[in-house]
Amino acid sequence: MKKIAVIGGGASGMACAVQLLRAGREVVLLERGDRLGRKLSATGNGQGNVTNINCSAKHYFSDDPKKVGRILDRFGYSETVRFLEDMGGIFLPDARGRVYPVGRQASAVCDLFRAELEKLHADICLKTQVQRIAFDGEFDLMWAGGHMRADAVVLAAGGKAAPHFGTDGSAYALAQSFGHTITPLSPALTRLKSDPALVRGLKGIRVDAGLKVLHGDSICFECRGDVLFTEDGVSGDAVFRASSYAKKGDRLEIDFLPDVGKERLSEALKVSDGSLLCIVPNGLGRVLSKRANGGHGALLSLLKAFQLPILGDCGFANAQVTKGGIPLIETDENLQSLKRPGLFFAGEILNVDGECGGYNLQWAFSSAHAAAEGILQC
Ligand SMILES: Cc1cc2nc3c(=O)[nH]c(=O)nc-3n(C[C@H](O)[C@H](O)[C@H](O)COP(=O)(O)OP(=O)(O)OC[C@H]3O[C@@H](n4cnc5c(N)ncnc54)[C@H](O)[C@@H]3O)c2cc1C
Repeated sequence: MKKIAVIGGGASGMACAVQLLRAGREVVLLERGDRLGRKLSATGNGQGNVTNINCSAKHYFSDDPKKVGRILDRFGYSETVRFLEDMGGIFLPDARGRVYPVGRQASAVCDLFRAELEKLHADICLKTQVQRIAFDGEFDLMWAGGHMRADAVVLAAGGKAAPHFGTDGSAYALAQSFGHTITPLSPALTRLKSDPALVRGLKGIRVDAGLKVLHGDSICFECRGDVLFTEDGVSGDAVFRASSYAKKGDRLEIDFLPDVGKERLSEALKVSDGSLLCIVPNGLGRVLSKRANGGHGALLSLLKAFQLPILGDCGFANAQVTKGGIPLIETDENLQSLKRPGLFFAGEILNVDGECGGYNLQWAFSSAHAAAEGILQC
C-alpha cells in the first residue's frame, strides 16, 4: 500500500504514523484541530500516565476481550516504553504501576511525537476535518475545500468523550458509511453524581479511601484510591475506576479508614470521646460528627461505610473515555475492517475502554501498532 491517510492526530494516530513513516511509507496525517495531541497533553492530570506495568486484557471492557489480549501481547507495556524512549525521555512506574515520563509533563510526551514526526518529514494537515470517505478501488477522503486519495486509511479519530479536544463522536459516521455498526456509547472514567445534601460541607475534601460499588446487596466493584468530594457527588481516581462499573441506582460505600479495623477505631473513639482529630481531615470530621449526633455506633458506620446513592454520571463532557464504539468483531487481527479491506482502526473509536491508570493510552499505542503492522503486511 503506497499512500496511507491517518485520520486523527491524537495518541493512536500519531503513534501509527510514526511507525509507518519509520518503515518508509508515504503517510498523510489529517487532524481537525489546530495542533496535534491536544488530549494527550491533558492526560494524567497533565502528567501523562502513558501505560501501566500491570497491563493485561482484564483491565479492559470490549466485545472481544481475547482479541484485546492478543493485541496487547504483541505491543504491551515494555514495547510502549521502548517506543517512547526511542523518541526521547525516560519513563518510570510509580508505586501503583502507573508509568509517567520522569519529568511528569504530558505535553512533553506530545512534543516528543511532534519532534519525531517532523524528523520523519511527516505530511501533516491541521484544521482538516474529514467529512466523508468514498471507495472506488482507492479511498477518496473529503473535507471542506479539499480531498485526497489513498490506498489505505487508518481511522484514529477518537470517541465521544471530552469533546473540547475535537472528539464529538462525529467520526463514527465515517465507519458507518462502510457498513460498520456502533455499540451503545456511554461516558466512562467520570465523576459520579449523588444527592447534593449528602455531600454538603465536604466539597474539596480528598481522602485515600476504600470504595465499593453496591448493586443491591452485592458488591460489583471495590478498589482503593483517591476520593474527592464535589458539589454534587464524588470524583478522584478511585471514583473514575468505579465509574466503569457503577450504574444509576447503585450505591457507593466509602471506607474513610481502610487501614484501620473497626475494633481499633471503636477503641480510639472511646478514648477521644468521639473527637475525630488526627483520625480524618478536620473538615470531614466536623461534618461526620455533626451527622452522627453523638452516637459512637453511627460515627463508626459513617467512617467505615459512608453511603452515597449514585444518581448518574457527569456526561461525555466530563468523561475521560468512551465506552462502546466500533465492535472488534468487525475487524481482523490487525484491526482492519472486515467490511472494507484497506480501512483500519486505532484507539478509542473502537469498542475498547480501559480502567483508570494508563490503560487507555496503552490501548491507543497497542492498537496503532496492530494497524501499522497490518498495513505493512499488505
Ligand atoms: C482529561 C483526560 C485525561 C486522561 N488521562 C489519561 C491517562 O492519564 N492515561 C490514559 O491512559 N488515558 C487517559 N485519558 C484517555 C486517553 O487520553 C484517550 O483514551 C486517548 O487519548 C485516545 O487516543 P485516540 O488517539 O484514540 O483519540 P484522541 O486522542 O481523542 O485523538 C483523536 C483525534 O482525532 C481528531 N479527529 C476527530 N475527528 C476527526 C476527523 N473527522 N478528521 C480529522 N481529525 C479528527 C480529534 O481532533 C483528535 O485530535 C484521558 C482523557 C482525558 C480527556
